[in-house]
Amino acid sequence: MPISRNISDKLKSSSWIRKMFEEGLQMKQKYGAENVFDLSLGNPVVEPPEEVRLAIKSVANDSGTGLHRYMPNAGLHDVREEIARSVSSEAQTELTADHIVMVCGAAGGLNITLKTLLEPDEEVIAFSPFFVEYLFYSENHGGKTITVPTNEDFSLNFNALREALSPKTKAVIINSPNNPTGVVYSRKMLKELASVLNKYSSDNNNPIYLISDDPYKKIVFDGVETPNILELYENSIYITSHSKDLAIPGERIGYVAVHPKCADAENLMSGLIFCNRVLGFVNAPALIQRAIKNVQNVSVDAELYRKKRDFLYAELIRIGYSVVKPQGAFYFFPKSPLKDEVLFTQKLAEKKVLVVPGRGFGSPGYFRISYCLPDQVLEGSIAGFEEAFNEAK
Ligand code: PLP
Repeated sequence: MPISRNISDKLKSSSWIRKMFEEGLQMKQKYGAENVFDLSLGNPVVEPPEEVRLAIKSVANDSGTGLHRYMPNAGLHDVREEIARSVSSEAQTELTADHIVMVCGAAGGLNITLKTLLEPDEEVIAFSPFFVEYLFYSENHGGKTITVPTNEDFSLNFNALREALSPKTKAVIINSPNNPTGVVYSRKMLKELASVLNKYSSDNNNPIYLISDDPYKKIVFDGVETPNILELYENSIYITSHSKDLAIPGERIGYVAVHPKCADAENLMSGLIFCNRVLGFVNAPALIQRAIKNVQNVSVDAELYRKKRDFLYAELIRIGYSVVKPQGAFYFFPKSPLKDEVLFTQKLAEKKVLVVPGRGFGSPGYFRISYCLPDQVLEGSIAGFEEAFNEAK
């Protein structure tokens, strides 16, 4: 076989999101795009804020010399300084440019972090439902993801976490606001998480890293707080990007911020910078690094997403779905009215509504709705949600 068996197997069991995407393309060709309500993808519908467009134009027009050359693999120093200033004030923790690595999106950040941390067969704990790429990212670097369930309301299940922690555990990954549930972890919950990990780390002399993967951090509603993990746990690594908060996922820009007091901090930073190079990213793109430097306090208008959430939540509840009300990001994760949620998502697809089965996120019996979509698509999907629900009863 010309390509690796491992990748060949992965392609065969390709992700549910991809499957739904492909089904959507076929359906749109058959029925016309306006008649298919594709709520399967998390690609932001809103455009980048005007300040971001202006910043991109301004850096593109800069005719200074050397602006497009190779740079230190960690990224441009003045950009990292600015990010460090912004993170320090948010997290009430003093960071400098030396604690920041500019990366190609949160995905790039997660990969350099896991490559730096993991010994063969070491474990990374993730809470289900989870962003499915975590499984692949750990495996990319010889590690393994151990999944633990959340509670009924998708809050962190500390008993399950305590049971999963083992001498092989290197890190725990959390994501708040969460994809796929939209749930935001409160300060109290994060403090409890920190205390569980601190206790385990000191009892076992095995410092557990906490990776907080938070690209949705600024997309929150109803004034809810999203504390930065660097404020609450010393052994932490904060990873984020501007894919969602500035609506520029195609530009592939984000950063990793390491707590100055985290275990082996200096080597960790050197490792991240080295891995940015040898994984082939080399450095995050120069132009977009310069563009985002002065828009750290800008964000898409979360109100746009809040209105969409309110509309869809009211409709889902009216129809009879059981769903936790999200406080951030742009997803719902309702319970499937049929035990087998794949059957139910097929029923929805017959009504030309596309969503993703929960098993794609490690939680069968649920499905994910993405609502970062034009209002007409959300409005058009309601009849299908209602008919499929009534038929499943
Ligand atoms: N982490 C989570 C939870 C996500 O939902 C995504 C993208 O959807 C990513 C990471 C990757 O983000 P990026 O596009 O910045 O690489």
